[in-house]
Amino acid sequence: MATAAVCRMLVIMAIILVAGRVSADPDMLQDICVADLASAVKVNGFVCKSNTSADDFFSTLLANPGSTNNTFGSLVTGANVQRIPGLNTLGVSLSRIDYAPGGLNPPHTHPRATEIVFVLYGELEVGFITTANVLYSKTIKNGEIFVFPRGLVHFQKNNGIVPAAVIAAFNSQLPGTQTISTTLFGASPSVPDNVLSKAFQITIPEVQNIKSKFAPK
Ligand code: MN
Repeated sequence: MATAAVCRMLVIMAIILVAGRVSADPDMLQDICVADLASAVKVNGFVCKSNTSADDFFSTLLANPGSTNNTFGSLVTGANVQRIPGLNTLGVSLSRIDYAPGGLNPPHTHPRATEIVFVLYGELEVGFITTANVLYSKTIKNGEIFVFPRGLVHFQKNNGIVPAAVIAAFNSQLPGTQTISTTLFGASPSVPDNVLSKAFQITIPEVQNIKSKFAPK
């Protein structure tokens, strides 16, 4: 075979290998592995249960708006492996996020997944920040899509006067969420005041005031 042809073949094989790794989660090793959420056995994911049915792959969780009557004026309803056990090992999940007028899904990250949102209705200001501290921001409305790369801090804000909602898809069965403010000011045990004071260049009483708003419930 000519050298050029071999090179072309190697490039094509490399592309196929890379394209095959579309999920952030590990690959599955069998058709299904419905999570046994009650098992005490710890593995990477959940162990498989033996009695399974179509209901393990079904949910009405996202059919209706969630209540946004809270401090941030938004609610994330997760349809992940913890609620849909059939998702175990499959590397995908969804959420629905509802926003009251003025509602904010505060800056947060998903350590295990990229997120892509589709606006059901309303209008949102969305954005993510790269590790170079560059903000990528846009206003999106019903029918439109925006992508938040894995691990990057991002947010959505409803600046409108009517409610908004999105469906969010993730390439993980359990993306995980760390909300920056809650993680730093609501951790238990508490992050030392002097760490937060120095990190944010604010006084200890200011740290304690913010902590009081994020005290673990
Ligand atoms: Mn998110």
